[in-house]
Amino acid sequence: MDAPHAPHAPHATFKRRLLKWYRNQARDLPWRLTRDPYRVIVSEFMLQQTQVSRVEQYYPRFLARYPTLEALSRAPASAVREAWDGLGYYRRAENLHRLARVVVDEHRGTIPADPATLVTLPGVGAYTAGAVASFAYERREAAVDTNVARVLRRVFFKGVKREEGRGKSTNRTKEIWALAETLLPRKGRTVWEFNQALMDLGATVCIARKPKCQMCPVQSACRTGKQR
Ligand code: SF4
Repeated sequence: MDAPHAPHAPHATFKRRLLKWYRNQARDLPWRLTRDPYRVIVSEFMLQQTQVSRVEQYYPRFLARYPTLEALSRAPASAVREAWDGLGYYRRAENLHRLARVVVDEHRGTIPADPATLVTLPGVGAYTAGAVASFAYERREAAVDTNVARVLRRVFFKGVKREEGRGKSTNRTKEIWALAETLLPRKGRTVWEFNQALMDLGATVCIARKPKCQMCPVQSACRTGKQR
């Protein structure tokens, strides 16, 4: 895979077009209306391996039952499991419940803003840590999940092959995170939009099996899309 470099990676054009598109087309999702870290983290746990449309049904129901981190931390495990019923992957509910207790016991009830601390919490990996830091605290942090990694690979790299050895794959992941960090706008509020925009593009246009390059707002800045 060629490394991205200036003539083939018009970062500024990509960012400008992506943000403009997002400001006109953003999906109207309930967790985008809040900066409450608890509500953001609940949405991020629910969205792991679950479709947005499904989470939209369960998210308000769960929050009606457990409106605060403290309420969740006090709940018995069986009740939390029941509130999660139907969403599947119950390990997420267990982790979220444990996280609530750890935050109450060890962080005075405040979900940390720093990704390095967030990743020490149950069920929180690098992506979720970046997402919470950006979406709840508007910090200047990248949040690279599978969809975002796919978009960045297609836009900025050439000749990407899926089948790679384990070591290479780890290097590639680091490379994509480093790229995502270099792309971040300067202001936290714009980073919030930028990260959301990358997710929307990966979920609705630059989809896994058949990317919709002809209707893509960043096609002119995309190394893969320009060839289609
Ligand atoms: S032009 Fe195609 S490959 Fe590039 S980001 Fe858009 S949909 Fe994805």
